[in-house]
Amino acid sequence: MKRRVLLVSPPESYRIQPYVRAAHALGLEINLASQGEWAISSPHSAGIDVPLHDHVAALAVLVEIASRHHYDAVIGTDDSTLELAAKLAEQTGLQQNLPSAVRISRRKDLSRVCLQQAGVQVPEFTVIKVGENSPFDDPHFGFPCVVKPLALSGSRGVIRADSRKSLEQGLKQSLKIITEEYDLYEKSHLLIEQFIPGREFAIEGMLSDGHFEVLAMFDKPDPLDGPYFEETFYISPARITGNERQLIVDTVQRSCEAYGLITGPVHAECRLNESGAWLIELAARTIGGLCSRLLSFGTGYSLEELVLANAIGLDLTKQENSRAAGVLMLPIKEEGVLRRVEGVMKAEKIPYIDDIEISLREGYKVYPLPEGASYLGFVFSSAPDANTVERALREANRELNPVIAPFWPVFDGKKEASA
Ligand code: ADP
Repeated sequence: MKRRVLLVSPPESYRIQPYVRAAHALGLEINLASQGEWAISSPHSAGIDVPLHDHVAALAVLVEIASRHHYDAVIGTDDSTLELAAKLAEQTGLQQNLPSAVRISRRKDLSRVCLQQAGVQVPEFTVIKVGENSPFDDPHFGFPCVVKPLALSGSRGVIRADSRKSLEQGLKQSLKIITEEYDLYEKSHLLIEQFIPGREFAIEGMLSDGHFEVLAMFDKPDPLDGPYFEETFYISPARITGNERQLIVDTVQRSCEAYGLITGPVHAECRLNESGAWLIELAARTIGGLCSRLLSFGTGYSLEELVLANAIGLDLTKQENSRAAGVLMLPIKEEGVLRRVEGVMKAEKIPYIDDIEISLREGYKVYPLPEGASYLGFVFSSAPDANTVERALREANRELNPVIAPFWPVFDGKKEASA
């Protein structure tokens, strides 16, 4: 009998398709629990419609379905569905992280407290209640500082402030973004933390029975000094010494232990400076966007195949690959309507460029950070070494020219009539 996995995913997730593909590659049946105006079902992935923001109601549906269909694993694909998946696993006896561990990793304020208590090096921080005219004190650790929402991802609403004036502005901007949140606490509180200068690295790893294995480490060659923190280049293997690498791996491992995470994928961001490694962020899920593709260069399996195999206890023999790989996430520089992206064919011909995927369609409204929630697209490269990957991606970046038209003011006909 085919083994069966349940994915719990927000309907717009980039991760659904890679997981469905991975399940097929491994010969698994996959069902998708999600929410939408239209049920997301296809011949490949039976759709289960659940109210994702109402865990009690969603759990009632899913526990009932799980009692009739045997599932071998349940996986939450994105930050917003990890906790629901963990609760389902807890109720049905499937192996997963405890909901409390997942909750700590999802909530930036809870994770800061947890790591500080565990002695992991994290920025000093404070949580403030925000409102239109709420008074606030300057942070006790001074400036520069970083304002961030408690539970968003993709650097949305993350803003550096160098002075009281820019902090005031940053809080206003971030507040506008969090008002869309469902949770009352998350929509009315922001985290302010010390700005940590230094080089930044991303780590992709896997936990099995509490043991952490690094799958890939990426360096981010462009300085990320703000005021907004858009991801651009990720290059692997990270250009870093053995000692520095070990410092980062130890920091990530200790953070997983502190949160109580024991299984599944881990995506972490660390900064490195003269004081050592700092944990900036750790999530119990795969890397965002289409970047998970990079993992297949290193292991011979897609990241999602590795996650599914880990979840059902299937042993995959990973290939060794010494090639370097990288991705350029094309940021959105201005708001407007996407008209086209010029130069794609030329950029595709650049040596060591493997693929270019423009993920937004013409005619879509696009917004830059701090509001924007998506990338324009992704450029993938692989080459014998990391420097060649970086050069190829930079050359492709120079060729690509997104054409974005400004929004037109809406004309409702009234002005002309009264003129
Ligand atoms: P998100 O989960 O939305 O991506 P993060 O907390 O990971 O939010 O922050 C996004 C980016 O902002 C980080 O990758 C980093 O470049 C920058 N950043 C966040 N916090 C700090 C900090 N305390 N000091 C320096 N840079 C930071």
